[in-house]
Amino acid sequence: MELVRTQVGFGPRVPGREGHAAQLAWMVAHLDSAGVEVQTDTFTHVTTTGDTLHLTNVLARAKPEATRRILLLTHWDTRPISDNATDPALRSTPIPGANDGASGTAILMELAGLLEGTPPPMGVDLLFVDGEDYGDYGAGDMLLGAKHYAEKLPPPGPGRPIYGVLLDMVGDVDPRFPVEPTSVQYAQPVVRKVWDAARRLGYSKFFPDAAGQDIADDHIPLLNAGLPTVDVIDFSYGPGNSWWHTPEDTPEHVSPSTLGMVGQVVTELIYSGG
Ligand SMILES: [Zn+2]
Repeated sequence: MELVRTQVGFGPRVPGREGHAAQLAWMVAHLDSAGVEVQTDTFTHVTTTGDTLHLTNVLARAKPEATRRILLLTHWDTRPISDNATDPALRSTPIPGANDGASGTAILMELAGLLEGTPPPMGVDLLFVDGEDYGDYGAGDMLLGAKHYAEKLPPPGPGRPIYGVLLDMVGDVDPRFPVEPTSVQYAQPVVRKVWDAARRLGYSKFFPDAAGQDIADDHIPLLNAGLPTVDVIDFSYGPGNSWWHTPEDTPEHVSPSTLGMVGQVVTELIYSGG
């Protein structure tokens, strides 16, 4: 929860803004001090409106020598506009991104230290992608970091992760993680692993074996690249998802116990052998 507050404290982590640069420096320093191997991958994207975005994916690798690896990913950038705000005057303001951006990032940052302290049975790649939430869904200015990572993914073999687990919007005070249908369609065995890990911990009430809605998220470019990846997402943030992409996406609407639960589920997944 402290890691969520720290991120929100940087201000909007929107490409080109001060908070974005501050967050990037903080992430690299935090991961470095955790002891994991850190790589940054900076690239540019020209948007449909002609703006050039400078984006950076951060990859932290635990047990870098291991050939059998899994990937956990999340986006660290935040949305420049509050399109869903009820007050039209607020729609041009950036979201605070406590849940949509900071929650998954906080969990993976915390996990970095854990993985260094207690070596996992396989290599674990923690990927923090940039530019997930920048533009319009239809325009192609979304999921930019995941697309960039997917383009550079090596062919199947040693060193390439065998599957991926995406965390997005994982801090709601009222958590519910139904199964995301595209994940089931293309990565059913991985869905089974994650939801079974939740069940072993007694969290089936929050991770029901029920279908949620299809989500256009960072798992899609990875699925397209042939890497089976599931989306762990709670797409019911506030009453009727009314806090999503609004100024209401604040730390008060994020719960330490939800962050803890999701962190435990991925920890169980890893230490039970992946
Ligand atoms: Zn978003």
